[in-house]
Amino acid sequence: MFDALYLGKTDGGFSAARRRIGDDELAAATPEADVTVRVECSTINYKDALALTNRSPVVRRWPMVPGIDGAGVVESSSHPGFAPGDRVILNGWGVGEAHWGCLAQRARLRGDWLVPMPGELDARRAMAIGTAGYTAMLCVMALQRHGVAPDQGEVLVTGAAGGVGSVAVALLARLGFRVVASTGRVDEADYLRALGAVEVIDRAALSAPGKPLQKERWAGVVDAVGSHTLANACAQVKYRGTVAACGLAQGMDLPASVAPFILRGVTLAGVDSVMCPMPERREAWARLARELDPAHIERMTTVAGLDDALRLAPELLAGKVRGRVVIDVNR
Ligand code: NDP
Repeated sequence: MFDALYLGKTDGGFSAARRRIGDDELAAATPEADVTVRVECSTINYKDALALTNRSPVVRRWPMVPGIDGAGVVESSSHPGFAPGDRVILNGWGVGEAHWGCLAQRARLRGDWLVPMPGELDARRAMAIGTAGYTAMLCVMALQRHGVAPDQGEVLVTGAAGGVGSVAVALLARLGFRVVASTGRVDEADYLRALGAVEVIDRAALSAPGKPLQKERWAGVVDAVGSHTLANACAQVKYRGTVAACGLAQGMDLPASVAPFILRGVTLAGVDSVMCPMPERREAWARLARELDPAHIERMTTVAGLDDALRLAPELLAGKVRGRVVIDVNR
């Protein structure tokens, strides 16, 4: 038996609670799995918060053990790539949505989904990074792939005090970029400067409808927000600059014109972490292990227990959680 969060849906409504689950029940729910992992830590990402609150249709199979991220130790494996004792990281692949997830002390997963934990990391640090941090690195890699470099000017990070934003600020600053952080929490300016931002701007400057072409300012943008913020960011990107779009915290819409793309050659690079191919994942995690200052990881992280995840989910959706939350599943 092990502890897990457990989401249920009946005609009577939705329920989310901590529960004891038997290994037989886990095995029956995960017939496609070939690796059993003793989860040490998980985390709450934006998508986990949506699942835990049933705020949008993230969960596609019921009942569900949530948790799109996990880090821990392989207990048993029939996958050729993994053996008992291996330390692994899981991000995405529909886990916590259509396959039982990692807000649990044990998970049964497919070996093809697992990334070997880089030697510099442990479970707590890996989950402090989590899907949010790994997505931030995918955004940085997208900017670099499109030739964005520090000598081309400032880069903008939106949703900066959130999980993706915090890691993006730290990574870009470490790479030598002048990072401007956009946030609705200007009282977090000191936090964002400590992560490496040279300037902090109020997100209100970007979140209202704007002109299709605006004064050119950014060499690149990491956008976790979408909607008018993404449209304005595109309108402010310099000639041949790139915007990496990964999020929808303001909205899923994109009320923009084609002007920045056809008149300034701007690239809009979409970033998806869930089904990202394995070589790119491994590269992202290897770079996160090398390039993200452990002191910054500590600065942006709070640690909580399984029960706390239920309390913290609505706070995260309300934009009240700073940085990243690690869930120690043994608490
Ligand atoms: P967080 O909740 O940690 O951060 C989101 C941040 O967005 C908030 O902290 C806030 O930043 C800002 N924000 C919230 N509401 C609004 C609003 N109405 N208008 C403008 N800004 C707002 O979430 P994550 O960092 O984990 O995720 C960020 C986004 O990225 C989410 O939409 C998530 O779904 C998406 N995502 C996508 C992935 C992919 O694979 N494409 C993977 C991971 C995340 P501040 O307080 O600084 O303004």
